[in-house]
Amino acid sequence: MIRLQLAAFACFIAVASAAAQSKGYTDTPMLPDGKWRVHDATRPHPQVVLPGSATDPVPPPKDAIVLFDGSDLTQWKGSSDAAKWTVADGCMTVNGSGDIHTVREFGDCQLHVEWASPAQVESESQGRGNSGVFFFDRYEIQVLDSHDNVTYADGQAASIYGQQPPLVNACRPPGEWQTFDIVFRAPKFGPEGGLLAPARVTMFHNGVLAHLDRPMWGATAHRTLPSYKAHDARGPIRLQDHGNPVRFRNIWVRELDLTGTPPAPTPGGASFEPKKSMDQSIADVMGRTEIIDDAIVVQHVLVSFKGAPRMTTITRSKDDARLSAEKIWSKATSGADFAGLMKAHSDDTGPGEYPMTKATRSQMVRGFGDVAYRLRIGEIGVAPWDAAGSPYGWHVIKRIK
Ligand code: MG
Repeated sequence: MIRLQLAAFACFIAVASAAAQSKGYTDTPMLPDGKWRVHDATRPHPQVVLPGSATDPVPPPKDAIVLFDGSDLTQWKGSSDAAKWTVADGCMTVNGSGDIHTVREFGDCQLHVEWASPAQVESESQGRGNSGVFFFDRYEIQVLDSHDNVTYADGQAASIYGQQPPLVNACRPPGEWQTFDIVFRAPKFGPEGGLLAPARVTMFHNGVLAHLDRPMWGATAHRTLPSYKAHDARGPIRLQDHGNPVRFRNIWVRELDLTGTPPAPTPGGASFEPKKSMDQSIADVMGRTEIIDDAIVVQHVLVSFKGAPRMTTITRSKDDARLSAEKIWSKATSGADFAGLMKAHSDDTGPGEYPMTKATRSQMVRGFGDVAYRLRIGEIGVAPWDAAGSPYGWHVIKRIK
């Protein structure tokens, strides 16, 4: 019922090698706090802090599970078979055979990793000593040679990749051993998959604080917004093969029982605001002025009701439609996958995802455009039923571009 007489639009993904070497982007979406774009080329770099000298391997405490002691890869697997990184001289080296991940799975944990970027400097930016430590196979702390190597701030060593630069740059020169000590708190999800608490990271790079109880916005993504998708309470830790011969040694992990130690209140930011009611959210969004961008793209879930114009197959009452829309809005704003919600719940028989410009918005119901043009990228709003402005029911709307 929402019709746009527009030619289909296509998405082009540039795979030019230049992009891999990029020192940042100016065309990526804004992160949820609205301050910087993903991999923002203009985001300031953290101050360089010279760490103390490299030391011998840090011995694991008694309760640690040793994931790599320099002798073999028995605690690791490849994507489809055995881990095949080169093991020699007490370390393992990335060799182009693909990412490896732990055989065991972990929830909240303290991880110690020692790594060294290649002594022989080749390439620049993201092409120099790139690897990564992924919790739950999806939340990356970046490994990179960030000694005298400019790249986008949210992609340098010890960054929460694509989200947060470290507090300082404490990288040692190429070839020298470096330490990551990371406390990772797993995200928590409700029974229906909504996000109850984001993942949190505290970490030290070479003994220097890089993140303090920093919430993550979701699974690591390249050039796009991070988001959460519910997963199990435990998952593997993955090390990345990014094509550079990064070495690792002395990796150990302590499992943490953090029950009864609630995290500190989450700082502001679009994804972590205290939960509002749908009505409050509608009032807040409509209280804003419209955004100035012309071309935008939105997805929506239409929840219609019996008696709405042209909706001949719908049997739910108008009251039930409102309740149902509120449930969908609540799930969507708690991190549930929007495309999945759209597929499961929308009464729109069209594609569900629509490009709009200020010239074409009049081809859609009025309330739809009024809300869509007040949302920031990644944000979710609702156009409530209104006989004149939104006659087909409630539209839960997400702006994606
Ligand atoms: Mg990486």
